[in-house]
Order: sequence, then C-alpha cells, then structure tokens
Amino acid sequence: MRTWTPETDGYDDQRTGFQRRDPHRPARIFGATNAHDIQKAVRYARDHNLRLAVQASGHGHTTPTEGVLLTTSGFAGVTVDPAQQTATIQAGATWQQVVAATTPYGLAPLSGSFPGVGAISYTLGGGIGLMARKYGFAADHVRRIELVTPDGELRSVTPDDEELFWAVRGGGGNFGVVTELEIGLFEVSTIAGGSLYYDLAITPDALQVWREWTATVPEEITSAVSALVIPDLPMVPEPLRGKHIAQLQLCVLADLATAEQLIAPLRALGEPVMDTFGELPYAESSRIFAEPEQPHGYRGRNLLLAELDPVALSTVPELAGPKAPAMCVVGIRHLGGALSRPPAIPNAVGRREAQYALTVLSPGDEDFSALHSSVLEPWTSIGRQLNFSFGPLTPDEIAEAYEPTDFERLRKLRQQLDPTGLLQPNHAI
Ligand SMILES: Cc1cc2nc3c(=O)[nH]c(=O)nc-3n(C[C@H](O)[C@H](O)[C@H](O)COP(=O)(O)OP(=O)(O)OC[C@H]3O[C@@H](n4cnc5c(N)ncnc54)[C@H](O)[C@@H]3O)c2cc1C
Repeated sequence: MRTWTPETDGYDDQRTGFQRRDPHRPARIFGATNAHDIQKAVRYARDHNLRLAVQASGHGHTTPTEGVLLTTSGFAGVTVDPAQQTATIQAGATWQQVVAATTPYGLAPLSGSFPGVGAISYTLGGGIGLMARKYGFAADHVRRIELVTPDGELRSVTPDDEELFWAVRGGGGNFGVVTELEIGLFEVSTIAGGSLYYDLAITPDALQVWREWTATVPEEITSAVSALVIPDLPMVPEPLRGKHIAQLQLCVLADLATAEQLIAPLRALGEPVMDTFGELPYAESSRIFAEPEQPHGYRGRNLLLAELDPVALSTVPELAGPKAPAMCVVGIRHLGGALSRPPAIPNAVGRREAQYALTVLSPGDEDFSALHSSVLEPWTSIGRQLNFSFGPLTPDEIAEAYEPTDFERLRKLRQQLDPTGLLQPNHAI
C-alpha cells in the first residue's frame, strides 16, 4: 500500500479532494487498495494514538485531520449480480463508477445529482437520489455491510447484527470504515429528465409555480429547484450567463409523452431560456442537474421543512439573488413519497416526515455564516440533512438530523465501539 507524509511527492494531491476548503493536513496518508489496507491504517492510527479520517472523493469534507488520512479512490471496484439485482461496491467507488457498471444490465442504483460523489459516504448519510420519492433513501436498500471497526476488526454486518446494521445505514462514518456495501438495484434504463431554466427577471413566478405543482405530483416524479445568479463566464451556456436563474430539475419515471403531460403546469410558465428535458438513458442522468465538475471550496447549510411556506419562498430572490453580498445557490429538493415511509428493515435515517430539504451554498473561502443565516431565517425547520450540510456543525446541530431517541442510541453505540474517538467523520456523533 502506498503511504505519504508531508515530505513525500504527491502528498498535496492525495490530501485534497473535490472540496478545496480547509484540506486535510495529515501526518500520514494511507492509500487503500483493499480491505486489509484499511485494517492496517486503522490499526496504525490506534497504535500511534492518532485520529483517522476517510476521504473517498472529498465532496463531504468538513474538518481537517492532523492524524491519519485514509484515501479510498484506489479501492473502487463494482460488481453486479443481475439475477439478484444487487451491486457490491468498494469503499472509494463514485456513483459514476456504479452507474457505469449497472446500466448495461438495465439496472439503476439510487444515485444522486452528481456522479462524482462517493457512493458509500452518500449512502451512509441516507442518500437522497434522483428517484428518491419512488424508492426511498439509498440507505433503505443496503443488504450487507463490510466494515473495519475502530478495534481494527473486519466485520460482515447483516440484518442479524441488529444494532450495527441499523446504525451504519444513516449514522454516517461514525462506526467504522466501510470496505464494501451490497446495495439493491432497480429496473430502470430510461427516464424522462433534465432541467427547465427560467430567468427570474422574466418569469418571477417560477419558484411559486414549482411549489404548487409539487403538491400535486405522483411519486414517479422527483424534482428540485436551484435559484442562483449564474456567473458570466465562457464555460457557461450562453443563454444562462449572468442571469438570475430558477433551474427546475426533473426526473420522471414515465415515457416522454406521459412525462410531458405531468410537467405541463411548469411549461405553462412560458418558454424557458434553456431546456434540457427529454428522454434520457439512466447512464446519462447526471445531465439532469448538470452540476459544476471543477473542484472548489464551498460552505453550505441545510434545513428540513414540513412544508414550503410561500411567504418564506418569496424572500429567496431578494436575500440570495443579485443583491446578496456573495453568490448563493438555494437548492430545494422535494421529498415525501417513499422517503416518508419506514424501510423494510429499520435504520437510523431520521426526520422522514420532512417534505422538502432546503440548502444554501456559497462557493469560496470567505465566512458565509451571516449571509446563510439571513437566507435561512424566514424558514421554520424540523431538522437537517447531514449529507447537504457542507461545513462543520455543532453537536446540537448534528443531533437535529435524528429523532432524539435514535440520536441517543447512536451516541451510545459510538461510545461503545469507539471510546477514544479514533474515527474523525465529517459529522461526528
Ligand atoms: C455537488 C454535490 C452533489 C450532491 N448530491 C447529493 C444528492 O443528490 N443526494 C445526497 O444525498 N447527497 C448529495 N450530496 C452530498 C454527498 O452525499 C455528501 O457530501 C457525501 O458525504 C459525499 O461523499 P464523498 O465520498 O464524495 O465525500 P468524502 O468527503 O470523501 O466523504 C465524506 C465523509 O464520508 C465518510 N466516509 C467516506 N468513506 C467512508 C467509508 N468507506 N466508510 C465510512 N465512512 C466513510 C467520512 O466521514 C467522510 O468524511 C452532494 C454533494 C455535492 C458536493
């Protein structure tokens, strides 16, 4: 296994991931290529009394480690069992790698908006995907977990191991380093998907019309909206440059003609400035959100909502639009449907009653806390989603992601498995 110290060539490349803000400054980096490497790294950290952080692709990075950094991008295999409709994914696999492996069989995983995100970290945090309202959280469809616990043991965790199987599915990287996950797949090869981009200066009703429409749609539709001022840059499609845009992001599990009927109330807003909606192979589902691929620094905060208050929604263009002191992307995802139902085997994912998730995110290295507080101030929150919390949170803020009794159960298990706090996950319980 390769290791790096601050004196070794390649140290800087290895310690930085997609999120460039406040990168890790580890004393030693281990680049795992198999489960035994992960065991070795955990044992090294334990024996040297160092903390250990894991980095798959670095989208969820919050706080730098000065101890051991375990990178997993070299341990990213995916195998598919088409008969069982499952995939086994190794620690560092991104959704792009999983989707590329499953879609030739006409099967899709519960992947999210951006293909570069690590599939394991996403799933351990719940995982709200493109088809979430139809199939629920990615964590609801985990069949088997292999992980190295802080004592250095490699364990296979099945539903029989009730407490750990419950906790890892929703409790994040607090209980061990996952070496592989077996996940359920779905018979989806083609979807109707894409974005309708409305210029808020021309179509100011876009956000409110999307809000009203979401109250009427079946679970076959999972949608979201992002409101942002698009930078006036050459790499941005010309019709969007410099405009304050509402990007309506749509994934419809139906043929295109049926999907068009279902989205007709949105089309009634008028001609969008850009329209990418159409029939889409699931393999190209990253085109729905079409998020930026360049690594950069960012901070973001998230709230879960019982409803989308129209008065609070009307403040978004003013507080987070062209007059905001820094760029803000306000992203709202429509939840409910299968996300609100309990999974077949209970897990730690909390706040299932939420109907919307609202995130405000700003790119850059500045302190955005006052700006983000002002954007979130009009909303009444019922919790938070840790996957969409991009930056350090206080222990009380982390607790808000869970039901209080579940949080207590997670805390006790963490204390039992990791009494010295060896693991340094992005959101520590
Ligand atoms: C552009 C973008 C789009 C996104 N879209 C979605 C979306 O559609 N739905 C959604 O739910 N989330 C989404 N997210 C959030 C994303 O799921 C989380 O940020 C996730 O933690 C990122 O995982 P990573 O592997 O890329 O990041 P990393 O920073 O590499 O990992 C994040 C954390 O996961 C833990 N971890 C990583 N690997 C392991 C392991 N093998 N075992 C145990 N713990 C581990 C560690 O605590 C680590 O700090 C998005 C994020 C971004 C930036």
